[in-house]
This record gives sequence, structure tokens and C-alpha cells, in this order.
Amino acid sequence: MSNIESYEIEMPPECSICLEDLGRHNLWKCKQCNNKFHKKCIIKWKKANPHYPEYFECPVCKLQYKNYCYNNCILRLIYRLMPIIIVFLLLVFIGDIIMVSCLVYNTYVKRH
Ligand SMILES: [Zn+2]
Ligand SMILES: [Zn+2]
Repeated sequence: MSNIESYEIEMPPECSICLEDLGRHNLWKCKQCNNKFHKKCIIKWKKANPHYPEYFECPVCKLQYKNYCYNNCILRLIYRLMPIIIVFLLLVFIGDIIMVSCLVYNTYVKRH
């Protein structure tokens, strides 16, 4: 067992996706198996994953990672809430119109 571990440590660090040497920059590291990959490779891997864009699995240990795409999520949230927002704005608008018309009516009635 200790032999296997030392063998793994002596292996030159390479990306398990493209099998090329890992540079020092733009790496993605799996928090479970500690394997490192090029960020560009993990992005390709994510998109090739059948579960994309919800989540992807580590190429080595299959640990599932959720994709946090804040911009898309916020846009989707706005799209989903759009009918509610429109109805709310309409209600506020209609309420304003009623209030204003009441004020106008009251001042009109008081003056005459
Ligand atoms: Zn790579
Ligand atoms: Zn992993």
C-alpha cells in the first residue's frame, strides 16, 4: 500500500483529461481526490457531461459538483418572477391612479 502511494507521488503531475503536463496556473483541483486538471479541460469536461449545466462529476473520483452560474441563475429568476413583477407594478400603478383620481374628485367636490 505504501509502495503504491509513493509511486503516485513520484508520478509527474499531468492532467487526467488531456494527459498533458500541468502548468502552474489555471488549474482546477478536486476537493475529494486532490487530482488537478487544466481549467480549460475541466470546462470542456463539464460541457461534455450529460448532466450539464446542472452538475458535473470529477473525471477521476466521480464526486458531483454543482455548477454555480450566478448570472444565468439571476436571469432565470428574473424571467420566472417577471409575471409577478408585472402584476405587482400594475397593481401599484392602478392603486396610484385610483388614489390620484380620488384626490382629484375630492378637491373637485370640495371646490364646488
Ligand atoms: Zn488538460
Ligand atoms: Zn475527484
